[in-house]
Amino acid sequence: AAEDLDHARELVAGAGRIVAMTGAGISTDSGIPDFRGPNGLWTRDPGAERMSNLRAYVGSKEVREQTWQARLAHPGWNAAPNTAHRALVRLERQGRLHSIITQNIDRLHHQAGSAPERVLELHGTMFETVCLTCADRRDMREALDRVTAGETDPPCASCGGILKSATISFGQELDAEVLERARIAAQSGDLMLVAGSSLTVQPAAGLVGLAAGAGATVVVCNAAETPYDSFAAAVLRGPLGEVLPALT
Ligand code: NAD
Repeated sequence: AAEDLDHARELVAGAGRIVAMTGAGISTDSGIPDFRGPNGLWTRDPGAERMSNLRAYVGSKEVREQTWQARLAHPGWNAAPNTAHRALVRLERQGRLHSIITQNIDRLHHQAGSAPERVLELHGTMFETVCLTCADRRDMREALDRVTAGETDPPCASCGGILKSATISFGQELDAEVLERARIAAQSGDLMLVAGSSLTVQPAAGLVGLAAGAGATVVVCNAAETPYDSFAAAVLRGPLGEVLPALT
């Protein structure tokens, strides 16, 4: 409702140190489907979930082959940031956005112009590969070129181990340093701005509770309900491409 937008706008205008928590919903307008939204990858094909499960990936060559094809065809390679990403850049240039904690792997915050040191990629990046045996990291391009050339499950060029995108799958630990930085950031803001996340993946979602516990005002912008809506001073259900620009 209009009053909610006005209230949220006042809260954002009055905040001096904003920390954003973004999820797949901020990138749907850029053509990258989310997992759990109405047009989400898992909503349309629940079986696709196994591609994001570490055990399934390690345990099945077939899952890895399917995942490599999905990586090759990923809309993120050609995606451009949208008005919602750009609204966060504006807040940063006003000197009021301290960090963006993102669950996204698409680097669209970077592309939009957010300062890289302020973007905490909690779930890693699709732009690199990592070897599950020797931890060798490389540009994703290398592996995708090998897949295009005919390798269906390219092994690590360094040790022969299983290669995966440098993203966090279910069953996989988050990078401890990134998580710690995100925890500190979440507790240091006076306003936690959630944008486009169902807040159902832990420990990411818990950072919103951490922020609230540290005294931050929470504003949730998400089309669907989240388990943290009751923590929020304002909840906005409108499309992010309109809501975020209206807040900044
Ligand atoms: P999610 O799919 O669980 O939730 C996305 C939420 O955004 C949904 O509740 C949906 O209703 C809402 N939404 C979608 N488009 C919207 C719009 N235009 N305006 C307002 N709301 C909108 O995503 P999540 O919470 O980020 O968690 C899923 C996991 O999937 C994360 O771990 C993330 O790493 C990964 N993921 C990332 C990308 C990406 O990098 N773009 C894409 C898909 C999944």
